[in-house]
Amino acid sequence: MRIVVVGAGPAGMAAARTAADAGAEVTMVDSEPEAGGQFLRGRAKFEHRGVTHLKNTEAWMVEGHTLHLRGPRQLHFDALIIATGAYDRPLPFPGWDGPGVITAGAAQALAKQGVTLADRVIVAGTGPFLLPVATALQNLGATLVGVYEANSPLAWARETKAVLANRHKIAELASYRKALSHLETRTAVIAKHGDRVTVAKLDRHWRPVSHRTEHADLVCIGYGFLPRTDLVPNAKRTNDFLDVDELQRTSVENVYAAGEVTGIGGADLAEAEGIIAGAAAAHQEPPLIAVEAVRRGRLFAQALARAHAVQPGWQTWLNPDTTVCRCEKVSLADLTDAASMRELKLTSRVAMGRCQGRICARNAADLTGIPFDGQRRVIAVPIPLGELADLPEETS
Ligand SMILES: Cc1cc2nc3c(=O)[nH]c(=O)nc-3n(C[C@H](O)[C@H](O)[C@H](O)COP(=O)(O)OP(=O)(O)OC[C@H]3O[C@@H](n4cnc5c(N)ncnc54)[C@H](O)[C@@H]3O)c2cc1C
Repeated sequence: MRIVVVGAGPAGMAAARTAADAGAEVTMVDSEPEAGGQFLRGRAKFEHRGVTHLKNTEAWMVEGHTLHLRGPRQLHFDALIIATGAYDRPLPFPGWDGPGVITAGAAQALAKQGVTLADRVIVAGTGPFLLPVATALQNLGATLVGVYEANSPLAWARETKAVLANRHKIAELASYRKALSHLETRTAVIAKHGDRVTVAKLDRHWRPVSHRTEHADLVCIGYGFLPRTDLVPNAKRTNDFLDVDELQRTSVENVYAAGEVTGIGGADLAEAEGIIAGAAAAHQEPPLIAVEAVRRGRLFAQALARAHAVQPGWQTWLNPDTTVCRCEKVSLADLTDAASMRELKLTSRVAMGRCQGRICARNAADLTGIPFDGQRRVIAVPIPLGELADLPEETS
C-alpha cells in the first residue's frame, strides 16, 4: 500500500506516522527544508523508519494516482493525503501595500527565527492568532502599540458548548496576559501613511464610527486563514474548505484531507485529523481518542469561524485608488463590472500575477459581489515551462 502525504505540518506528520505504523509504504512531501509546518516551523524532529520525507519539494498537480513534484518527478500512490495547511488573509486599506505592513503569519514566521522588523508594532485583524503573534513580538523586545481585534469577544458568550469542550484553550489565553492588556476590540487599522496609522472604532458590521492616529513602524494584519486546496481543484468544498467525512475522505476517490485544509481549529485538531486520515488511508480503524479530539476540535473550529467572521464593512476602508491586487497593481477603481471571476480577471488583471490570486481574489470577489469560485487551478504552484516540457509523454 503506497500512501503519499503532502505537507509536513502537525496534520501531515501525524498522518504519515500513523499510516507507516499500520504497515503502509509512506512518502511525505513538503516544500520546506524541515518538518513542522507553520506551527512548529523547523522545531519538529520528524524521524520514522517507515516514512520517506522529501524535503524542499513542491507538489504541483494530482493526475489520477500520480502526484507531480517539482524537479520534475512523479510519485504513484494508492492513497493520497492532502495536509497542505492554510495561509493568512490580509484585507486591503490605504497604505497596506507600502512599507511597514506585513501579514501576522509573516511576522510570526520571522519571530520564530528571532527576527522582529521594527520597534513600535501594531497587530490587527480578527481571531485568537493575533495574541501569539503579539506575544512573540513583545518577547523579542518590540513595543506593542496595540492589538486590535475587529470583532467583539462577546460573540463567544453564545459558544458555551464549544468553550466547555475545549477548556484547555482558555488556559492558553492566560499565557498571552501581557499582550491581552493591549487588546482593543471592535477596532481596526484602516490606513497607514509612513508611521501614521489610522485606527478606527468599528460598528458590528466593521464600518468605522470614529478614528484616531497612532504611530507605529510595523503593522501586522491577519483576518483569518484561507486553505491551500489547489492540489484537488475538483474536490467538494464549503466556504473554500475541503469537505471530508468521518474518515477524512474527500469527494475524490482515494484522496483524504487533514488539518487546516478542512477548517481552522489549531494544531491539536490538525494532528487528530492527521491520525484519522493516516489510519483510514491504511485501512485501519481510527483510534477513538483521535475521533473524540476531532469532535471537540471541530466544535471549537465552528465557533471560531462564527465569532471571528470577516464583516463586509471593511470594504468602506478603501479609496478608489487603494491597491487590491499587489502583483498586478490593480486598484479598487480598476475592478470592472464583470459577471464571473474569470471575466473579472481577464478584464482587470486582478489575481493574474505571481500569487495567482491567493492574496487578492477573495477580496476582489467580495468587493465586486462576484461569487468566489475557490480559485480552481490546474497547476497548484508556479512552475517554469521547461519543467512541463521535461515531463514524460504519459504518466500513470
Ligand atoms: C504563517 C503562519 C504561522 C502560524 N503560526 C502559528 C503559531 O505560531 N501558533 C499557532 O497555534 N498556530 C499558528 N498558525 C496556525 C497553524 O497553521 C496551524 O494551527 C497548524 O500548523 C496547522 O497544521 P497543518 O498541518 O494543517 O498545516 P501547516 O502547519 O500549515 O503545514 C502545511 C505544510 O504543507 C506544506 N505545503 C503546502 N503546500 C504544499 C505543496 N504544494 N507542496 C509541498 N508542500 C506543501 C507547507 O510548506 C507546510 O509545511 C500559523 C499559520 C500560518 C499560516
